[in-house]
Amino acid sequence: MYDFVIVGVGPAGARFARRAAESGYSVLGLEKGTIGTPLACSGHVSTDIWDYLPDAAEDNLLQNRVYGANFYTGGPDSETNLFYKTDEISNVIDRVELDRTLANAARNAGAEIREGHTVTGVDERDDRVVLTVSVADKNDPVEIEARMVAGCDGPVSRVRQAVELPEPEEKLHGVLAFTDEEDHGDHVDVHLTSHDFSRGASPAARPASSTGSRPHRVRMSTTASRFSPNSTMLRPTTSARARSRLGHRRR
Ligand SMILES: Cc1cc2nc3c(=O)[nH]c(=O)nc-3n(C[C@H](O)[C@H](O)[C@H](O)COP(=O)(O)OP(=O)(O)OC[C@H]3O[C@@H](n4cnc5c(N)ncnc54)[C@H](O)[C@@H]3O)c2cc1C
Repeated sequence: MYDFVIVGVGPAGARFARRAAESGYSVLGLEKGTIGTPLACSGHVSTDIWDYLPDAAEDNLLQNRVYGANFYTGGPDSETNLFYKTDEISNVIDRVELDRTLANAARNAGAEIREGHTVTGVDERDDRVVLTVSVADKNDPVEIEARMVAGCDGPVSRVRQAVELPEPEEKLHGVLAFTDEEDHGDHVDVHLTSHDFSRGASPAARPASSTGSRPHRVRMSTTASRFSPNSTMLRPTTSARARSRLGHRRR
């Protein structure tokens, strides 16, 4: 029996696995897919992320340093207002590699991480929790026992449902798309109006804007993204011209 079984090895699960393993507990992390994929994130993060990662991670993960924002107040074709700060505001990172880095850090701390393991049942007993797990290359499910289970399985959490924890009061729906627009890198685009996905949107993008939930829409290229909590869209972009004008250099 493991001290902890962690369901879901995204950033939360991997971080928890690492901390628990470092504290001397036996830890198993179960990830239903492959660590880091499919990508569901623009990789726009606060600068303190590096405090939670191994020292060498920045060289592999960092894509852009963000110093400013370009505000669109009247739709995507409107005039913009560009603001800069002297200090770095946020970073854009390789999110797939982030998840892999965090999972490897957990492994290095002693946690066992298994991919292709989907938790389908959570049975709380007096002295243990028994998980039913479907394994990618096996026909029959297996049972795994733990003293404690950490449900780190994202917004549609199987663990939360199984132990009847309350659902969140609000869920934000996201759409992620890629663009080959020029990447300006040192600032993000903030759209203060809601993007019209019916214009040139793929069918897969439309349902999110018709769910009735508040939209959370993202558009990105390999190093660029739009992030829109509450109808606000941010797009980290790279511009050699803007960067050299401001004298910002990547470390
Ligand atoms: C389109 C979009 C863009 C975003 N952009 C940004 C951004 O730019 N910056 C930012 O900070 N945040 C962004 N976010 C939010 C960010 O992705 C999440 O906050 C973050 O991933 C949450 O991490 P987590 O570990 O809690 O969950 P997740 O990253 O969702 O990890 C949960 C893991 O659990 C696994 N799992 C699920 N069910 C099971 C099961 N039954 N058994 C085993 N494994 C299971 C999943 O496969 C997944 O790997 C974005 C989200 C979306 C949808």
